[in-house]
Amino acid sequence: LQKRLSSAFRQFRVSGVLTEANMKEGLREVRTALLEADVNYNVVQDFMTRVTDKAVGTQVVKSVRPEQQIVKIVHDELVDLMGPSDPTIRFEKTGTTVLMLCGLQGSGKTTTSGKLAKLLTSQNRKPMLVAADLQRPAAVEQLKVIGAQLGVPVYTQENSNPVKVCQDALIEANRRGCDTLILDTAGRLHVDDELMAELVQIEKKVKPHQVFFVCDAMTGQDAVASAEAFNAALELDGVIMTKLDGDARGGAALSVRRVTGVPVKFVGKGEKLDKLDPFDPERLVGQMLGMGDVVGLVEAAQSAVDEEEALRQQERMAKGKFDLNDFRQQIVQIKKMGSVQDVMGMFPGMSQMSENLSGLDADGEIKRIQGIIDSMTQRERSRPDLIDISRRRRIAAGAGVDPSDVSGLVKQFDAMAAFVKQMAQMTMLDKLKALTG
Ligand code: GDP
Ligand code: MG
Repeated sequence: LQKRLSSAFRQFRVSGVLTEANMKEGLREVRTALLEADVNYNVVQDFMTRVTDKAVGTQVVKSVRPEQQIVKIVHDELVDLMGPSDPTIRFEKTGTTVLMLCGLQGSGKTTTSGKLAKLLTSQNRKPMLVAADLQRPAAVEQLKVIGAQLGVPVYTQENSNPVKVCQDALIEANRRGCDTLILDTAGRLHVDDELMAELVQIEKKVKPHQVFFVCDAMTGQDAVASAEAFNAALELDGVIMTKLDGDARGGAALSVRRVTGVPVKFVGKGEKLDKLDPFDPERLVGQMLGMGDVVGLVEAAQSAVDEEEALRQQERMAKGKFDLNDFRQQIVQIKKMGSVQDVMGMFPGMSQMSENLSGLDADGEIKRIQGIIDSMTQRERSRPDLIDISRRRRIAAGAGVDPSDVSGLVKQFDAMAAFVKQMAQMTMLDKLKALTG
C-alpha cells in the first residue's frame, strides 16, 4: 500500500494550483489504495468526491509542494470521515447501566465483553457479565472462564431464553449492587432473521442504555453488509472494531463508520483482555495508509519526486539529448540518494561507471566530478567539444584538479553520450535488453 501511495503522490508533481486535471492520475491511485485497504466501494466514491472538491483550486502554499498539500488533504479528510472520536461510555446517573454487545459469530463479542468488564473495573465500576448467547453450548462456559479470570460475576441460566436471562440478570445486578451490566449476545455466521428477531426482543424488553456493534476488522468488505443489517434492526450507539492487531487494513472501520453513522468507540488489538484501546482516528488512518504519520507520507512523496527526475532524464536520453548538465544532474541525484552503486544502475549508461567506482572512494569521486563540471561555463557543458587546452587549464584550476582529470571526465562523458545516442536509435525492446543487461 505504501508503495502504491508513494506512486500516487508522485503524480501530484504539479506547480501552482491543484486542478482536477493535474490531480486525476494521482487521485486514481489513491482510490485504488483505499479499495485495497478494504474500504467499501461507495464509501471510496464518496470520499474521492470530497477530496477533489476540497483540493481543486487550492493554492499551493509556497515552500509546500503540491504533493505535500494533497497528502495533507487526503489524510485530514480520512480522519474527518473516521471521526469524531468519542471513546466514552455514558453511564446512567442512578441504577444499573445496561450495555448490549451484538455482532456476527466470531466477531469477538465474548472477548470484548471481558475487555470492557476489565476496563470498567479499573475505573472503579462494578460490572456484571451476562451470558445471553444460548446458541452455542460453549459460549456460556467461555464467559464464565473470563469472569473468573477477572473476578467479575457472570450471570447464567440453564434451559432459558435470552430475554429472560437478561431480565433476571438486571434484577440480580440490582440486588448485588453491580452498576453495569454487559450483555454478551448470540451471533450467527451470517445475518439471519431469527437472530435479528432475538436481538430486537432483547432490545425491546430489556431496554439496554447503549448498544454496541462488534465488528471484525478482518472481514473487510463484508463488514459493511453486516453493519447495515444490525444498524437497521437495532439502534446502535457505537462500534467496536476487533482484530486490528492482525493484518486487517482498517478500511472496514471507515466503511462501517460511514454506513452506520455511529462512532467507533474502541478497538480490539489482541486476544488478551487488556487489548482494548480507545479509538483514535489519526492512528487508524496512519495504519490504513501504511505509515505512521503525514511526515512519512510526505517523505515518500519526496523520494517519488527524485524518481521522477530520473525518469525525465531517461526520456531526454532516449531522444539522444544529453549534455554535461544532464550528467551533473545525475551525479547530484546519485549523491542525494545515498547508496551510490545501487542507485547508479538506475541511470542508463551509468552501470559501467558504477563498476569503475567500485572499490574507490565513491563519494570523493562524485564530488570531484561535480567540481569539474561546476567550473565549466554553460556553453562548455552543452558543447564539451569546445573544451580545448586553454579552457581545460582554466577549468582544472577552478576545480583544483589536474588538466588531465578534465580530459578524463570529458572522455568518460563522450563514451556515455555515444552510448546514449546508440540507445536513442534502438528499438524499445533493445533498450530494455541493454538496460537490464
Ligand atoms: P464471539 O463469537 O463474537 O463471541 O467471538 P469471540 O469473543 O469468541 O472471539 C472469536 C475469536 O476471536 C477468539 O479466538 C478470540 O480470541 C478472537 N479475538 C477476539 N478479539 C480479538 C482481537 O482484538 N484480536 C485478535 N487477534 N483476536 C481476537
Ligand atoms: Mg461469544
